[in-house]
Amino acid sequence: MWVRKRLDFGYSDVLYGVAASYRRLDRARLVCQVKQSWPTAAGCLPCLSVRSGFDLLLQVLDLPQGSEVLMSAVTIHDMVRIVHEHGLTPVPLDVDLNTMTPLPEAVERAISPRSRAIVLAHLFGGRAPIDPIIEIARQHRLLVIEDCAQAFAGLQYQGHPLAEVSMLSFGPIKTATALGGALLHVRDAVLFQRLQDAHQAWPVQPEGQFRRRLLKYAVLKFLSARIIVRSVVGVYRAVGRDYDRMINGSVRGFPGPDFWRRIRRQPADSLLGLLARRLQTYDFGRVQRRTRTGEFLRQQLAPVVALPGKDCLGRTHWVFPVMAEAPHRLVDALLDGGFDATQGQSLCVVPAPTDRPQMRALRAAEFLAKVVFLPIYPELPQPAVERMAAIVQSQARLGDVLSPPLEQRAETTEKDYAAHHGRTDGSDEHRGAADVQGFAQIGVHFVGERPGH
Ligand SMILES: *Cc1c(COP(=O)(O)O)cnc(C)c1O
Repeated sequence: MWVRKRLDFGYSDVLYGVAASYRRLDRARLVCQVKQSWPTAAGCLPCLSVRSGFDLLLQVLDLPQGSEVLMSAVTIHDMVRIVHEHGLTPVPLDVDLNTMTPLPEAVERAISPRSRAIVLAHLFGGRAPIDPIIEIARQHRLLVIEDCAQAFAGLQYQGHPLAEVSMLSFGPIKTATALGGALLHVRDAVLFQRLQDAHQAWPVQPEGQFRRRLLKYAVLKFLSARIIVRSVVGVYRAVGRDYDRMINGSVRGFPGPDFWRRIRRQPADSLLGLLARRLQTYDFGRVQRRTRTGEFLRQQLAPVVALPGKDCLGRTHWVFPVMAEAPHRLVDALLDGGFDATQGQSLCVVPAPTDRPQMRALRAAEFLAKVVFLPIYPELPQPAVERMAAIVQSQARLGDVLSPPLEQRAETTEKDYAAHHGRTDGSDEHRGAADVQGFAQIGVHFVGERPGH
C-alpha cells in the first residue's frame, strides 16, 4: 500500500526536539538562529503556526468591525474562522482551477468600500501567478497577505516582494516540517515591530506540550509505514468504516474547544530549535525528487484527466490533485491497486457573505466536490507511479474522471455549490461598485507608506 502522505521528517528530528525540550536554552539566541536561517532575517517572525501568525496579524491591524477580507476561495477552514473571530467578513474570490489563482473579475467584483485586505493562497506546492491580482489590490489599497503554507520548497521563494506579509508553515503535514512552527515574512518595518511586540505578550507554548506533539507524530509516522497501513485499511474496509475520514481527523493541528487559547502562543524553545535545524539541514533533494515524480505523473495524466493547479509556477507537487466525476469510485479503484488516495477533508470553500450571495465561488466548489488527491512523495518509485497513472487512465475510460480542459463550467457548478452550502438565491443587487473615497480611511496605515507605492 502506498500511503497518501509521508510525513516529511525523520525520527532524528523527533529525538532532537525531545532532547531540546529538556535543556535550558537561551530563547533570544534560538529566535536569532531561526531568523538567520532565513535569507532576510529582518522582517522574519517565527510563530507557532500560520494560523497563530494570521490571528496575530489581524489583532495588530485592528481593522474596523465589518471590514471585508478578500480570500482565495480555496483554503483551510481555520483561516476563515480566524477572519470571523476578528469581527471581519471573509469574501471568497473564485479561482481559475488551472492555477488556483483568483480570477481578476472575481476580485473586481468582490471589492467594496469595506474591503481592507486580501489573502492569496498558493496551493498544492506550486505558486499562483498573482502579479495581476496584486496590481488590482494596490489600486484599491488593500493589504496583501500571502498564504505560502503549502509552498515552502526552499529558501529561494520568500514570498512575493509586493505582499505586505507572506506566511510559511512548518506544520506536521507540510514540506520540511518541524512538526509545528511558521514564519511570517513582513516587509514593512513598522508593521513588523508591532507584530513582534504583540507576539511577545502571548504566553510561550509549554515544553511538555510540544514534546507530546513530537511523540504523537513519531507514532503516526510509524503507523503510516506501508505494512501497517495495509492492515489498518484492510480492517477499516472489512468493518465498513471510513478510513479516509479517520486519518484526516487525526492530523488536525489544534483539536478541541480551546482553539483560541492554543493558537495564541509563542513557539516553545524546543520548537524554535527544531525549526532552525530544519531550515539549516533539510535535504532539498527530496523536493527535487518529488518535483520530478510529479511532473512525470502530470505528463501521463494531463491528456485524460483535469488537473487542478497544473499550470502553477514552480510546481513541486506537495500534493497531486485530480478531478473525478465519481471521486469515490476513483478512490476505490486506486485502493484496490494499492494506492491510498484521498478526497481530502481539510480544504474548504470560503462561503459568500449572506448579504452578497453573488460572490459564491462556484468553481472552487466544483473543485472541492470532485477532487481526489493521489499519493506523491520522493519515496514513490517510478514503476509505482506508472501503475498509478494506468489506474487513473483506465478509470478515465470508464468515465469516472473529469476530462480536460478545466474551463468555465458555471452551469454544472451550481449543483456542486448547493451540495456544499445549501441554496442561496443569486440576486445581484448588492454588487458593490468600488467607492474610491472609502479607501481613504483604511485602518491600515502600512499600506501606501512604502516608497514607490
Ligand atoms: C496548512 C495550511 C495553513 C495552516 O498552517 P499552520 O501552520 O498549520 O497553521 C494555512 N493555509 C493553508 C493553505 C494551509 O495548507
